[in-house]
Amino acid sequence: LDAHLAPYLGANGEIKGIITVLHDITDIRRLEKMRSEFVANVSHELKTPITSLKGFAETLLDGAMYDPEIAKSFLTIIHDESERLHRLITDILHLSKIEQHQLPFHPEPLNVTGVIYETIDTIQEEINKKQLTIKLPNQKPVIIDAEKDRLQQIILNLVANAVTYTPDKGTIEIGIVEKDDQIELTVKDTGIGISKEELPRIFERFYRVDKARSRNSGGTGLGLAIVKHLVESHHGSIQVDSEEGKGTLFTITLPKKQNR
Ligand code: ADP
Repeated sequence: LDAHLAPYLGANGEIKGIITVLHDITDIRRLEKMRSEFVANVSHELKTPITSLKGFAETLLDGAMYDPEIAKSFLTIIHDESERLHRLITDILHLSKIEQHQLPFHPEPLNVTGVIYETIDTIQEEINKKQLTIKLPNQKPVIIDAEKDRLQQIILNLVANAVTYTPDKGTIEIGIVEKDDQIELTVKDTGIGISKEELPRIFERFYRVDKARSRNSGGTGLGLAIVKHLVESHHGSIQVDSEEGKGTLFTITLPKKQNR
């Protein structure tokens, strides 16, 4: 609470009372704290790839560049880390824009089934590489009011995670169920799962159960935070169920109509 006091004076300058103005500043303080934590996290997350880029470039300059095989492997690391850094910066900017409602939102009638099929096409190569079985809903159109880019991003982030965190030859299943004025979109995998303790934290920015594994697979720890915001921008909700060693199920509920 933030208090301002002022005397209330009478005609002869005598103090007749005190005026108190109280402001509830808990929200402001909370926002300030969140913002400074975010800046600290971002700086830390950016430092890691930059340290690695610097280290590998220095080692190359110190002589490793004269061995073509070592040079190639170091340059590959530099290339991959630069890509991750690029993705990190894009994700951070994207997330902060959605959080501050800076992006215009223009939902339009969209066939969710079609968007699922299109999105899967873009990561088919990784699916094949890991010999994963992918089960898709039947091709029947399901129409909801949504923004195509955002819906694509939601599906892509969830399925890309399912691919990353599922061992070779596993199964990923995507489902759509219509329920009155809502739809339920599910992404289920037979992957490593998430423990009960970690589960409540996975939607936090930069939270990763296994930092090394996430980083090696190009992860930024922002994917699920972005998904949650995008779902909420459509007035929907997201839930997760998981069992370690068995697999994970994400369930998204979206309204069919957005009030325009
Ligand atoms: P990342 O870029 O690390 O994948 P996300 O925000 O997308 O970041 O996910 C946060 C963390 O949640 C991941 O690091 C991972 O530990 C866990 N996670 C997300 N999806 C799955 C999944 N399908 N199976 C197991 N763990 C998952």
